Amino acid sequence: MSEQFALCIGGRSVPGEAWFDVIDPSTGAVFARAPDATRAQLDMAVAAARQAFAHWRALPHSERVAAMRSFAARVRAETEGLARVLTLEQGKPIAAAHREVRATADRIDGMAALEIKSEVLREDAAGRVVLDYQPLGVVGAIAPWNAPLILATQIAAQALVTGNTVVVKPSPFTPLSTLRLGEIAAETLPPGVFNVVSGGNALGQWMTEHPGIDKIGFVGSTVTGKRVLASAANSTLKRVSLELGGNDPAIVLDDADVAAVATKLFWSAFVNSGQICMAVKRVFVHESLADRLTEALAAKARQVKVGSGFEPDVELGPLQNRPQYDKVLAILQDATDRGARVVTGGGALPRPGYFIAPTIITGLTEGSRLVDEEQFGPVLPVLTYATVEEAVQRANATRYGLGASVWSSDVPRAQKVAQQLEAGTVWINAHGGATADIPFGGFKESGLGRAMGTLGLKSYLEARVIYLPPA
Ligand code: NAD
Repeated sequence: MSEQFALCIGGRSVPGEAWFDVIDPSTGAVFARAPDATRAQLDMAVAAARQAFAHWRALPHSERVAAMRSFAARVRAETEGLARVLTLEQGKPIAAAHREVRATADRIDGMAALEIKSEVLREDAAGRVVLDYQPLGVVGAIAPWNAPLILATQIAAQALVTGNTVVVKPSPFTPLSTLRLGEIAAETLPPGVFNVVSGGNALGQWMTEHPGIDKIGFVGSTVTGKRVLASAANSTLKRVSLELGGNDPAIVLDDADVAAVATKLFWSAFVNSGQICMAVKRVFVHESLADRLTEALAAKARQVKVGSGFEPDVELGPLQNRPQYDKVLAILQDATDRGARVVTGGGALPRPGYFIAPTIITGLTEGSRLVDEEQFGPVLPVLTYATVEEAVQRANATRYGLGASVWSSDVPRAQKVAQQLEAGTVWINAHGGATADIPFGGFKESGLGRAMGTLGLKSYLEARVIYLPPA
């Protein structure tokens, strides 16, 4: 790729002093280089964000909203170019990349439609008590590689609408689309409000340690999330929001309509080649439906077109990076070593790049890697149960608690099951999807706090109580 990518600091493009390679996951070959921000460049970005904060926080809410809406409109206008870079670096099919860019613009607009106002908590003869929310300052947004644009933007948009400024760090596996987003932000937002620095994991750690950053909004794995929390605590007790991994169960009750469930369930598990935090990662099906559902899922897996994101009609791309590809293959190996039945798929595709065949596996139990860990790949275990109590107990037997779903022809019955599931979001006859107005987050080790909705926005604000005397 001949285009040059630069850091975005204080509304200007700042060239890299060092560079790192970016790999096309559909070939495994290097296709571009991204700037590897130095500590001094991070300091510059934080200083620019701090300087912009004074102006941005003081703007009337309506002016911040107007600036965010023009940012969203420019993102929409740049869909073609952003989607192309996203497919190149992330691997997802170009149609999915278009959807991610449009969803990114929607996320900015959706967040701009929310507002947290001050509240009167008490008013009586003794006076008035007012709760008055204040922005925190500079927010560091650290994002993963599976949906780089929308996830970086999700953190940033929450910070911006509440009057904070941001320094965004994309994953080193997918830095380019976010660097492009920084250029668009520089055209539409005041200088220094939205900065982008790319680099490796060390850059992330410099951010969590940085005394000039007031909060870290983090989306990524649970193992890194714990490091972020520890480092943020050890520096300046930064505020932290963590959106982490999941091992989402889908419980299919004995009255479910298998034909209706199978296609939806398949896409809930395999979208983005399984690399979605809230993808279905374990299916629990009642033993009476197990054979039919397994066969219907396998039929779908055999049909689906896998390939490079730019090939016509491709529905699933490669795994995004080599470590993830190796991890999923090792999890598959563990499953076969334990005597699991590979109904379809089962290994790498014979072509360059990080392709794994969509795989359906049965015959596994808890204790295997595929059931206990977050596979984050196109490999789905189908597990059978005898009673609903057993299904609920096994669905909850995980350190994660991000999403879950219940599938049934009897919605009130499904809702009773949903109420027993330890997950931040439970869907009935669906699985996946999030919008700016609805809080999203995890129980247990799937996260800390909630993103989006008014619950999410409040975590980008400090609450100040003011006691006023009687008038
Ligand atoms: P990761 O934790 O490896 O990396 C995420 C980000 O953290 C990257 O930008 C990385 O450079 C940075 N980082 C790494 N070490 C750091 C450190 N010590 N300090 C600060 N930053 C550091 O995650 P990943 O592999 O990029 O993403 C996949 C994971 O993200 C999966 O577990 C997935 O479930 C999770 N995820 C969660 C959500 C959610 O909303 N809950 C959404 C998408 C992805």
